[in-house]
This record gives sequence, C-alpha cells and structure tokens, in this order.
Amino acid sequence: MTLQGRVALITGGGSGIGRSSALRLARAGSDVAVLDLNLDGAKQTAAQVSTLGRRSVALEANVVNSVEVRAAAARVEQELGPVDILMNNAGLAWLVSFPDMTEEEWDRLLSVHVKGAFNCTKAVVDGMIARRWGRIINTASIAGLGGMGRSVAYATAKAGLIGFTKGLARELAPYGVTVNAVAPGFIDTPMTDTWPPELRAQRVASIPVGRVGLPEDIAEAVAYLASEEASYMTGQVVSPNGGSYM
Ligand code: NAP
Repeated sequence: MTLQGRVALITGGGSGIGRSSALRLARAGSDVAVLDLNLDGAKQTAAQVSTLGRRSVALEANVVNSVEVRAAAARVEQELGPVDILMNNAGLAWLVSFPDMTEEEWDRLLSVHVKGAFNCTKAVVDGMIARRWGRIINTASIAGLGGMGRSVAYATAKAGLIGFTKGLARELAPYGVTVNAVAPGFIDTPMTDTWPPELRAQRVASIPVGRVGLPEDIAEAVAYLASEEASYMTGQVVSPNGGSYM
C-alpha cells in the first residue's frame, strides 16, 4: 500500500487517534496537514511527520468555524497541494447523565462532530470531485452503532456521522471519491484518560480480545481506507473494537 504523492488533512491531528493516523499515513508516503484547536499538539505531530521525511503543516482552527476551516484548507493547498485525503476526526466527549445534560452540551457535541465534518468536507470536496479522486474518512465510534449510557449526545453525533458517511458516499462514488467511517471501540488516548479508573477497568474487562485499543489499531484501518487498494470500499463503517461491538 502506498500513499506516495498524496496530501492528507487530519482534523484533531494534534493528539490520540489523529496523531497516530497522521504518522501512519506519513509512513505510507503521504504529506500530512494537521489541524487542531490545540496548536502545540498539531505542531508536535507535524514535527514527527517531518522526521519521517514527509512535508507537513500545523494549523490552528476550530472545525465548527467555517471561516477558520476554509482559511486552513487554503493554506494546506498553498503549502502542500490539493487535499486528497480528509480525515474528519476532531472530537471530544465527556460523561453526563441525560437528565443532567444541558442544551449547550447537546449543541456542542453535535456541532463539533457533525457540523465540523460538514465544514471540513465542504472545504475540500470540490477539488476531489474535479480531480476524480478522494478519500474521506470520518471517525465515528461504537457509541454511534450500539449506543452508550451517559453519552447520549455523543452517541447521537456519531450516529449522525455514520449517516453523513453513507449519504455522501452514494453521492460521491461516481467521482472516484470514497467516504467511509472508522468506528473505534475503547481506545487509550487523552480523551479516555480522564475517565474514572473503575470505569476504565470495567470497559477493558468487557473487551473480548482482552486489552484496551491503541490509536495505532485505528490508524491501520485509516491507512487502508485512504489507499488506492480501497477504491471499492465506500459507505462502510470499519470498526476496530477488539470485539466489543459485533
Ligand atoms: P483526543 O486525544 O482528545 O484528540 C482529539 C483532538 O481533537 C484534540 O486535540 C482536541 O483538541 C481536538 N479537537 C476537539 N474539538 C475540536 C474542534 N472543535 N476543532 C478542532 N479540533 C478539535 O481524542 P481521541 O480519542 O484521539 O479522539 C479522536 C476521535 O476519535 C474523536 O472524534 C473521538 O470521538 C473518536 N473516538 C475516540 C474513542 C476513544 O476511546 N478514544 C473511541 C471512539 C471514537 P483539545 O484537546 O484542545 O480539545
């Protein structure tokens, strides 16, 4: 599998799954733009991509803000070239029971995951269509497949992202642009670091393969979905989850 000559843009690339995916795509030959709210994190990822001999740029932007996203995409095109691979991965989560959830929390979770993917895709999709080649990979979650308590808005957002993936896949298939989702299980990243130890232990104990997932487990699926070899895969939800959702 080679991604030689490709340009990838990864949102939320300054940490966790996004960083690991950036490094995996770089190892396969892609240049990688790293967009994140956290510019320091994005810069660290970009530096690691450069160490692998690939070009990179770190961008500070909020995926919810279409003006910032368009400006970031324009900078990527200027510095690295047109975006071939987009990974809509920026996200956040926290545990809150439904009766305690506020309207602001609901709006924020839906907005970052769903509107964020909309904004970033809008910023690059015309070029993919024009060039008749593109890969869009959305980071969903098993929460969007099987639901998750104390994460109702998150599960709703991730299910929405799966609908976005499938609708867009149908529309873009004739143009050589595939759209797929990865739906990770429980993965060891800064996002899950904050979970109470007893909840983490409970989650890990329920995973059939007997270990927590690593960001690299997701990055492997991302590299495949980004590849030429995956040209017949579209509208799919690939779920590296250790068997925790079947
Ligand atoms: P992470 O390490 O916290 O990385 C997420 C990154 O996204 C952070 O750098 C975060 O910046 C950034 N971000 C958040 N909101 C943003 C916004 N509005 N605009 C731009 N960047 C933003 O978490 P992760 O576990 O790698 O999560 C990556 C994706 O995987 C998320 O979509 C998450 O929902 C999904 N996922 C994770 C798991 C898991 O178990 N870890 C399971 C299933 C799905 P800040 O740190 O500044 O907020």
